[in-house]
Amino acid sequence: MTSVALDPTALQADFPLLAQRVNDAPLVYLDSAATSQRPQAVIDAEIDFVTRTNSAVHRGAHTLAAEATELFEDARAAVASFVGAQPEQLVWTSGATAGLNLVAYAIGNGSAGRGAPASARVALRPGDEIVVTEAEHHANLIPWQELALRTGAVLRHIPVHDDGALDLDAAADIIGERTRIVAFTHVSNVLGIVNPVEALVRLAQDAGALTVLDACQSAPHLPLDLPALGVDLAVFSGHKMLGPNAIGGLYGRSDVLEALPPFLLGGSMITTVTLDGAEYLPPPQRFEAGTQPVSQAIALAAAVRYLDAVGMDAVHAHEQELERRLRDGLRSIPGIRLLGDADAERVALSAFDVEGVHAHDAGQFLDARGIAVRVGHHCAQPLHRRFGVTATVRASAALYTTADEVDVFLDAVSGVRGFFGVGA
Ligand code: PMP
Repeated sequence: MTSVALDPTALQADFPLLAQRVNDAPLVYLDSAATSQRPQAVIDAEIDFVTRTNSAVHRGAHTLAAEATELFEDARAAVASFVGAQPEQLVWTSGATAGLNLVAYAIGNGSAGRGAPASARVALRPGDEIVVTEAEHHANLIPWQELALRTGAVLRHIPVHDDGALDLDAAADIIGERTRIVAFTHVSNVLGIVNPVEALVRLAQDAGALTVLDACQSAPHLPLDLPALGVDLAVFSGHKMLGPNAIGGLYGRSDVLEALPPFLLGGSMITTVTLDGAEYLPPPQRFEAGTQPVSQAIALAAAVRYLDAVGMDAVHAHEQELERRLRDGLRSIPGIRLLGDADAERVALSAFDVEGVHAHDAGQFLDARGIAVRVGHHCAQPLHRRFGVTATVRASAALYTTADEVDVFLDAVSGVRGFFGVGA
Protein backbone atom coordinates (compact mmCIF):
# COMPACT_ATOMS: atom_id res chain seq x y z
CA MET A 1 0.00 0.00 0.00
CA THR A 2 1.38 3.44 -0.86
CA SER A 3 0.98 6.07 1.78
CA VAL A 4 1.24 9.82 1.67
CA ALA A 5 4.61 10.96 3.02
CA LEU A 6 4.48 12.40 6.47
CA ASP A 7 5.66 15.94 7.22
CA PRO A 8 6.96 15.91 10.80
CA THR A 9 7.38 19.68 10.92
CA ALA A 10 3.71 20.14 10.08
CA LEU A 11 2.77 17.47 12.66
CA GLN A 12 4.73 19.28 15.38
CA ALA A 13 2.18 22.09 15.23
CA ASP A 14 -0.30 19.60 16.73
CA PHE A 15 1.93 18.94 19.77
CA PRO A 16 1.95 22.00 22.03
CA LEU A 17 4.72 20.73 24.30
CA LEU A 18 7.20 20.42 21.44
CA ALA A 19 7.08 24.15 20.65
CA GLN A 20 8.93 25.21 23.78
CA ARG A 21 12.56 26.04 24.42
CA VAL A 22 14.45 24.16 27.10
CA ASN A 23 17.67 25.52 28.56
CA ASP A 24 17.65 28.35 26.04
CA ALA A 25 17.51 26.03 23.04
CA PRO A 26 14.65 24.65 20.95
CA LEU A 27 13.51 21.41 22.56
CA VAL A 28 14.73 18.31 20.73
CA TYR A 29 12.64 15.56 22.22
CA LEU A 30 14.30 12.19 21.71
CA ASP A 31 12.72 10.32 24.62
CA SER A 32 9.53 9.07 23.02
CA ALA A 33 10.28 5.45 23.93
CA ALA A 34 9.97 6.47 27.59
CA THR A 35 6.89 8.58 27.03
CA SER A 36 5.52 10.18 23.88
CA GLN A 37 3.98 13.61 23.55
CA ARG A 38 0.26 14.23 23.04
CA PRO A 39 -1.37 16.06 20.19
CA GLN A 40 -3.95 18.72 21.03
CA ALA A 41 -6.72 16.35 19.88
CA VAL A 42 -5.80 13.92 22.67
CA ILE A 43 -5.61 16.65 25.30
CA ASP A 44 -8.95 18.04 24.10
CA ALA A 45 -10.66 14.64 24.14
CA GLU A 46 -9.83 14.17 27.80
CA ILE A 47 -10.73 17.74 28.80
CA ASP A 48 -13.96 17.54 26.84
CA PHE A 49 -15.00 14.31 28.55
CA VAL A 50 -14.14 15.60 32.01
CA THR A 51 -15.87 18.92 31.35
CA ARG A 52 -19.11 17.60 29.89
CA THR A 53 -19.67 13.89 30.40
CA ASN A 54 -17.71 12.60 33.40
CA SER A 55 -19.80 9.87 35.09
CA ALA A 56 -19.49 6.26 36.22
CA VAL A 57 -19.72 3.86 33.30
CA HIS A 58 -21.85 0.69 33.12
CA ARG A 59 -23.81 1.74 36.22
CA GLY A 60 -25.85 4.91 36.23
CA ALA A 61 -29.38 5.24 34.95
CA HIS A 62 -28.89 8.88 34.01
CA THR A 63 -28.13 10.48 30.65
CA LEU A 64 -24.52 11.40 31.34
CA ALA A 65 -23.73 7.90 32.58
CA ALA A 66 -25.20 6.44 29.40
CA GLU A 67 -23.15 8.85 27.27
CA ALA A 68 -19.99 8.09 29.24
CA THR A 69 -20.58 4.35 28.78
CA GLU A 70 -21.05 4.81 25.06
CA LEU A 71 -17.86 6.86 24.72
CA PHE A 72 -15.94 4.36 26.85
CA GLU A 73 -17.06 1.39 24.74
CA ASP A 74 -16.50 3.32 21.50
CA ALA A 75 -12.96 3.95 22.74
CA ARG A 76 -12.49 0.23 23.33
CA ALA A 77 -13.63 -0.51 19.79
CA ALA A 78 -11.27 2.12 18.35
CA VAL A 79 -8.21 0.95 20.27
CA ALA A 80 -9.00 -2.73 19.61
CA SER A 81 -9.34 -2.02 15.91
CA PHE A 82 -5.99 -0.16 15.92
CA VAL A 83 -4.31 -3.46 16.87
CA GLY A 84 -6.51 -5.54 14.58
CA ALA A 85 -8.68 -6.92 17.39
CA GLN A 86 -12.35 -7.15 18.29
CA PRO A 87 -13.65 -4.95 21.15
CA GLU A 88 -14.25 -7.93 23.46
CA GLN A 89 -10.60 -8.93 23.01
CA LEU A 90 -9.34 -5.71 24.59
CA VAL A 91 -9.04 -5.36 28.36
CA TRP A 92 -8.27 -1.90 29.76
CA THR A 93 -5.32 -1.80 32.10
CA SER A 94 -3.32 1.06 33.58
CA GLY A 95 -0.36 0.24 31.31
CA ALA A 96 1.83 -2.52 30.02
CA THR A 97 3.24 -3.29 33.46
CA ALA A 98 -0.28 -3.72 34.82
CA GLY A 99 -1.23 -5.92 31.84
CA LEU A 100 1.74 -8.24 32.27
CA ASN A 101 1.16 -8.53 36.02
CA LEU A 102 -2.52 -9.21 35.36
CA VAL A 103 -1.62 -12.14 33.12
CA ALA A 104 1.05 -13.54 35.45
CA TYR A 105 -1.19 -13.31 38.52
CA ALA A 106 -4.26 -14.60 36.70
CA ILE A 107 -2.32 -17.66 35.55
CA GLY A 108 -1.22 -18.26 39.11
CA ASN A 109 -4.71 -17.79 40.54
CA GLY A 110 -6.23 -21.02 39.41
CA SER A 111 -9.96 -20.34 39.75
CA ALA A 112 -12.21 -19.08 36.98
CA GLY A 113 -15.11 -18.58 39.37
CA ARG A 114 -17.10 -20.70 41.74
CA GLY A 115 -16.93 -24.31 40.69
CA ALA A 116 -14.89 -23.44 37.60
CA PRO A 117 -11.23 -24.33 37.83
CA ALA A 118 -8.82 -22.61 35.48
CA SER A 119 -8.51 -24.28 32.14
CA ALA A 120 -5.50 -26.57 31.83
CA ARG A 121 -4.40 -24.22 29.05
CA VAL A 122 -3.43 -21.55 31.55
CA ALA A 123 -2.50 -23.62 34.62
CA LEU A 124 1.12 -24.09 35.72
CA ARG A 125 2.60 -27.02 37.57
CA PRO A 126 6.01 -27.51 39.20
CA GLY A 127 8.58 -28.24 36.52
CA ASP A 128 6.65 -26.41 33.78
CA GLU A 129 8.78 -23.84 32.00
CA ILE A 130 8.29 -20.15 31.33
CA VAL A 131 10.57 -18.73 28.64
CA VAL A 132 11.51 -15.07 28.27
CA THR A 133 14.35 -13.37 26.38
CA GLU A 134 17.50 -11.75 27.68
CA ALA A 135 16.28 -8.44 26.24
CA GLU A 136 13.12 -7.99 28.30
CA HIS A 137 12.06 -4.86 30.11
CA HIS A 138 11.80 -5.67 33.83
CA ALA A 139 8.01 -5.49 33.43
CA ASN A 140 8.15 -8.60 31.27
CA LEU A 141 10.63 -10.40 33.49
CA ILE A 142 9.94 -9.93 37.19
CA PRO A 143 6.25 -10.97 37.05
CA TRP A 144 7.40 -14.26 35.47
CA GLN A 145 10.15 -14.71 38.07
CA GLU A 146 7.54 -14.37 40.80
CA LEU A 147 5.05 -16.63 39.01
CA ALA A 148 7.76 -19.28 38.77
CA LEU A 149 8.43 -18.94 42.50
CA ARG A 150 4.73 -19.22 43.35
CA THR A 151 4.08 -22.26 41.17
CA GLY A 152 7.35 -24.18 41.13
CA ALA A 153 7.74 -23.49 37.42
CA VAL A 154 11.20 -22.91 35.96
CA LEU A 155 12.12 -19.62 34.27
CA ARG A 156 14.44 -19.88 31.27
CA HIS A 157 15.71 -17.28 28.86
CA ILE A 158 16.66 -17.03 25.20
CA PRO A 159 20.02 -15.24 24.89
CA VAL A 160 20.88 -12.52 22.41
CA HIS A 161 23.93 -12.55 20.14
CA ASP A 162 26.69 -9.96 20.46
CA ASP A 163 24.97 -7.87 17.79
CA GLY A 164 21.72 -7.88 19.79
CA ALA A 165 19.78 -10.28 17.55
CA LEU A 166 17.90 -12.99 19.35
CA ASP A 167 19.61 -16.40 19.22
CA LEU A 168 16.95 -18.36 17.37
CA ASP A 169 18.94 -21.61 17.48
CA ALA A 170 18.99 -21.36 21.25
CA ALA A 171 15.28 -20.52 21.18
CA ALA A 172 14.60 -23.73 19.27
CA ASP A 173 16.54 -25.71 21.91
CA ILE A 174 14.96 -23.99 24.89
CA ILE A 175 11.31 -23.99 23.81
CA GLY A 176 10.14 -27.56 24.13
CA GLU A 177 7.54 -29.86 25.59
CA ARG A 178 7.88 -28.45 29.13
CA THR A 179 7.35 -24.88 27.92
CA ARG A 180 3.98 -23.45 28.95
CA ILE A 181 4.54 -19.73 28.37
CA VAL A 182 6.79 -17.80 25.98
CA ALA A 183 6.82 -14.09 26.90
CA PHE A 184 8.85 -11.74 24.73
CA THR A 185 9.07 -8.20 23.55
CA HIS A 186 8.10 -7.25 20.02
CA VAL A 187 10.71 -4.48 19.97
CA SER A 188 13.45 -4.14 22.56
CA ASN A 189 13.35 -0.78 24.34
CA VAL A 190 17.18 -0.82 24.41
CA LEU A 191 18.23 -2.43 21.13
CA GLY A 192 15.44 -1.13 18.92
CA ILE A 193 15.44 -4.50 17.16
CA VAL A 194 12.13 -5.98 16.00
CA ASN A 195 12.04 -9.57 17.20
CA PRO A 196 11.05 -12.39 14.82
CA VAL A 197 7.56 -12.85 16.22
CA GLU A 198 6.50 -15.37 13.61
CA ALA A 199 9.40 -17.73 14.35
CA LEU A 200 8.87 -17.50 18.12
CA VAL A 201 5.12 -18.02 17.81
CA ARG A 202 5.73 -21.10 15.66
CA LEU A 203 8.12 -22.59 18.21
CA ALA A 204 5.68 -21.84 21.04
CA GLN A 205 2.70 -23.25 19.15
CA ASP A 206 4.60 -26.44 18.32
CA ALA A 207 5.26 -26.80 22.03
CA GLY A 208 1.63 -26.01 22.93
CA ALA A 209 2.76 -22.96 24.91
CA LEU A 210 0.98 -19.64 25.38
CA THR A 211 2.61 -16.57 23.83
CA VAL A 212 2.65 -13.19 25.55
CA LEU A 213 3.88 -10.24 23.50
CA ASP A 214 5.08 -6.94 24.94
CA ALA A 215 4.05 -4.56 22.16
CA CYS A 216 4.91 -1.32 24.02
CA GLN A 217 7.65 -0.30 21.63
CA SER A 218 5.99 -1.48 18.42
CA ALA A 219 2.43 -0.16 18.72
CA PRO A 220 3.38 3.52 18.11
CA HIS A 221 5.80 2.79 15.27
CA LEU A 222 4.51 0.16 12.87
CA PRO A 223 1.18 -1.18 11.62
CA LEU A 224 0.17 -3.77 14.18
CA ASP A 225 -2.22 -6.68 13.70
CA LEU A 226 -2.03 -8.78 16.85
CA PRO A 227 -4.38 -11.58 15.70
CA ALA A 228 -2.36 -11.88 12.47
CA LEU A 229 0.85 -12.20 14.48
CA GLY A 230 -0.75 -15.21 16.12
CA VAL A 231 0.12 -14.28 19.70
CA ASP A 232 -2.23 -15.35 22.48
CA LEU A 233 -1.88 -12.26 24.66
CA ALA A 234 -0.26 -8.87 24.16
CA VAL A 235 0.12 -5.61 26.07
CA PHE A 236 0.75 -1.98 25.18
CA SER A 237 0.89 1.37 26.96
CA GLY A 238 -1.12 4.49 26.14
CA HIS A 239 1.53 7.00 27.13
CA LYS A 240 3.98 5.58 24.58
CA MET A 241 1.49 5.97 21.71
CA LEU A 242 0.47 9.64 22.02
CA GLY A 243 -2.08 8.86 24.74
CA PRO A 244 -2.24 9.73 28.42
CA ASN A 245 -0.67 8.01 31.41
CA ALA A 246 -2.47 5.33 33.40
CA ILE A 247 -4.11 3.59 30.44
CA GLY A 248 -3.04 0.60 28.43
CA GLY A 249 -4.42 -2.45 26.76
CA LEU A 250 -4.26 -6.18 27.17
CA TYR A 251 -5.23 -8.00 23.99
CA GLY A 252 -6.18 -11.66 24.22
CA ARG A 253 -7.38 -14.29 21.81
CA SER A 254 -10.98 -14.89 22.78
CA ASP A 255 -10.47 -18.54 23.80
CA VAL A 256 -7.44 -17.61 25.89
CA LEU A 257 -9.17 -14.74 27.71
CA GLU A 258 -12.10 -17.10 28.26
CA ALA A 259 -9.79 -19.63 29.94
CA LEU A 260 -7.98 -17.06 32.05
CA PRO A 261 -9.08 -16.59 35.66
CA PRO A 262 -9.44 -13.01 36.92
CA PHE A 263 -6.71 -11.20 38.80
CA LEU A 264 -8.29 -8.24 40.60
CA LEU A 265 -11.65 -8.97 42.18
CA GLY A 266 -14.46 -6.61 43.11
CA GLY A 267 -17.14 -4.46 41.53
CA SER A 268 -18.05 -4.48 37.83
CA MET A 269 -16.58 -7.89 37.04
CA ILE A 270 -19.30 -10.16 38.43
CA THR A 271 -22.72 -11.52 37.50
CA THR A 272 -23.82 -12.83 40.91
CA VAL A 273 -22.32 -12.50 44.37
CA THR A 274 -23.42 -14.27 47.54
CA LEU A 275 -21.74 -14.13 50.92
CA ASP A 276 -20.01 -17.37 50.00
CA GLY A 277 -18.86 -16.83 46.45
CA ALA A 278 -19.14 -15.08 43.12
CA GLU A 279 -19.60 -15.74 39.45
CA TYR A 280 -17.68 -13.65 36.99
CA LEU A 281 -18.57 -11.80 33.83
CA PRO A 282 -17.06 -12.93 30.56
CA PRO A 283 -13.98 -11.11 29.19
CA PRO A 284 -13.15 -8.28 28.95
CA GLN A 285 -15.17 -7.16 32.03
CA ARG A 286 -13.90 -10.14 34.03
CA PHE A 287 -10.53 -8.41 34.12
CA GLU A 288 -11.79 -4.89 34.81
CA ALA A 289 -12.60 -4.83 38.51
CA GLY A 290 -13.34 -1.46 40.04
CA THR A 291 -13.62 1.98 38.49
CA GLN A 292 -11.82 2.17 35.18
CA PRO A 293 -9.60 4.95 33.77
CA VAL A 294 -12.44 6.28 31.63
CA SER A 295 -11.17 9.70 30.53
CA GLN A 296 -7.79 8.14 29.75
CA ALA A 297 -9.41 5.42 27.61
CA ILE A 298 -11.31 8.07 25.66
CA ALA A 299 -8.11 10.07 25.16
CA LEU A 300 -6.25 6.94 24.03
CA ALA A 301 -8.94 6.42 21.41
CA ALA A 302 -8.26 9.98 20.22
CA ALA A 303 -4.56 9.06 20.03
CA VAL A 304 -5.11 6.01 17.84
CA ARG A 305 -7.51 8.00 15.65
CA TYR A 306 -4.74 10.57 15.24
CA LEU A 307 -2.21 7.85 14.36
CA ASP A 308 -4.69 6.29 11.93
CA ALA A 309 -5.33 9.66 10.28
CA VAL A 310 -1.59 10.14 9.73
CA GLY A 311 -1.40 6.51 8.62
CA MET A 312 0.76 3.88 10.29
CA ASP A 313 2.44 3.06 6.98
CA ALA A 314 3.52 6.68 6.67
CA VAL A 315 4.64 6.72 10.32
CA HIS A 316 6.69 3.60 9.76
CA ALA A 317 8.27 4.86 6.52
CA HIS A 318 9.22 8.21 8.10
CA GLU A 319 10.68 6.56 11.18
CA GLN A 320 12.67 4.12 9.06
CA GLU A 321 14.46 7.09 7.52
CA LEU A 322 15.12 8.50 10.97
CA GLU A 323 16.37 5.10 12.12
CA ARG A 324 19.01 4.98 9.36
CA ARG A 325 20.06 8.57 9.94
CA LEU A 326 20.33 8.07 13.69
CA ARG A 327 22.26 4.81 13.57
CA ASP A 328 24.56 5.72 10.68
CA GLY A 329 25.30 9.02 12.42
CA LEU A 330 26.08 7.42 15.76
CA ARG A 331 28.24 4.75 14.12
CA SER A 332 30.39 7.44 12.51
CA ILE A 333 31.20 9.20 15.80
CA PRO A 334 34.46 7.98 17.40
CA GLY A 335 34.07 6.48 20.88
CA ILE A 336 30.40 5.61 20.49
CA ARG A 337 29.45 1.97 20.96
CA LEU A 338 25.92 1.04 19.95
CA LEU A 339 24.19 -1.70 21.88
CA GLY A 340 22.87 -4.23 19.42
CA ASP A 341 23.99 -3.10 15.99
CA ALA A 342 22.51 -6.11 14.19
CA ASP A 343 21.45 -5.66 10.62
CA ALA A 344 17.84 -6.39 11.50
CA GLU A 345 14.42 -4.84 11.21
CA ARG A 346 14.41 -1.97 13.71
CA VAL A 347 12.65 1.10 15.02
CA ALA A 348 14.25 4.54 15.41
CA LEU A 349 15.78 3.94 18.81
CA SER A 350 19.45 3.60 19.72
CA ALA A 351 21.13 3.05 23.06
CA PHE A 352 24.85 3.63 23.21
CA ASP A 353 27.86 3.91 25.43
CA VAL A 354 30.17 6.92 25.17
CA GLU A 355 33.67 5.64 25.84
CA GLY A 356 35.13 7.35 28.89
CA VAL A 357 32.00 9.33 29.77
CA HIS A 358 29.27 8.23 32.16
CA ALA A 359 25.83 8.06 30.55
CA HIS A 360 24.45 10.52 33.11
CA ASP A 361 27.13 13.08 32.28
CA ALA A 362 26.44 12.67 28.58
CA GLY A 363 22.71 13.08 29.27
CA GLN A 364 23.32 16.32 31.18
CA PHE A 365 25.53 17.64 28.41
CA LEU A 366 22.72 17.01 25.92
CA ASP A 367 20.06 18.42 28.23
CA ALA A 368 22.00 21.67 28.55
CA ARG A 369 21.51 21.98 24.77
CA GLY A 370 17.76 21.33 24.90
CA ILE A 371 18.09 17.68 23.88
CA ALA A 372 15.99 15.23 25.91
CA VAL A 373 17.25 11.63 25.98
CA ARG A 374 17.02 8.84 28.50
CA VAL A 375 20.02 7.63 30.48
CA GLY A 376 20.40 4.59 32.75
CA HIS A 377 19.58 0.92 32.33
CA HIS A 378 16.13 1.60 30.84
CA CYS A 379 14.61 -1.08 33.11
CA ALA A 380 16.71 -3.74 31.38
CA GLN A 381 19.53 -4.51 33.77
CA PRO A 382 20.18 -8.09 32.60
CA LEU A 383 20.61 -6.88 29.02
CA HIS A 384 23.00 -4.11 30.06
CA ARG A 385 24.97 -6.60 32.12
CA ARG A 386 25.16 -8.87 29.09
CA PHE A 387 26.84 -6.04 27.17
CA GLY A 388 29.16 -5.20 30.07
CA VAL A 389 27.72 -1.77 30.88
CA THR A 390 25.58 -0.45 33.71
CA ALA A 391 24.08 2.51 31.90
CA THR A 392 23.65 3.83 28.37
CA VAL A 393 22.28 6.89 26.63
CA ARG A 394 19.13 6.20 24.62
CA ALA A 395 17.72 8.36 21.86
CA SER A 396 14.29 7.46 20.53
CA ALA A 397 12.17 9.11 17.87
CA ALA A 398 8.50 9.25 17.04
CA LEU A 399 6.39 10.37 14.12
CA TYR A 400 6.90 14.05 15.04
CA THR A 401 10.72 13.82 15.08
CA THR A 402 12.45 15.63 12.22
CA ALA A 403 15.67 14.72 10.42
CA ASP A 404 17.03 18.12 11.50
CA GLU A 405 16.47 17.22 15.13
CA VAL A 406 18.39 13.98 14.65
CA ASP A 407 21.23 16.02 13.11
CA VAL A 408 21.24 18.48 16.06
CA PHE A 409 21.47 15.49 18.37
CA LEU A 410 24.30 13.83 16.38
CA ASP A 411 26.23 17.07 16.28
CA ALA A 412 25.91 17.41 20.05
CA VAL A 413 26.93 13.78 20.66
CA SER A 414 30.07 14.30 18.61
CA GLY A 415 31.06 17.00 21.10
CA VAL A 416 30.54 14.97 24.29
CA ARG A 417 33.95 13.34 24.61
CA GLY A 418 35.83 16.53 23.77
CA PHE A 419 33.83 18.44 26.38
CA PHE A 420 34.78 15.92 29.07
CA GLY A 421 38.41 15.86 27.92
CA VAL A 422 38.27 12.25 26.71
CA GLY A 423 39.66 10.94 23.42
CA ALA A 424 41.62 12.72 20.75
N1 PMP B 1 7.84 -2.96 28.18
C1 PMP B 1 8.63 -2.17 27.44
C2 PMP B 1 9.37 -2.75 26.27
C3 PMP B 1 8.76 -0.82 27.77
O1 PMP B 1 9.55 -0.03 27.04
C4 PMP B 1 8.03 -0.31 28.88
C5 PMP B 1 8.14 1.14 29.28
N2 PMP B 1 9.44 1.57 29.50
C6 PMP B 1 7.22 -1.18 29.60
C7 PMP B 1 7.15 -2.50 29.22
C8 PMP B 1 6.43 -0.72 30.77
O2 PMP B 1 5.43 0.17 30.39
P1 PMP B 1 4.59 0.98 31.47
O3 PMP B 1 5.59 1.59 32.40
O4 PMP B 1 3.88 1.99 30.66
O5 PMP B 1 3.72 0.05 32.15
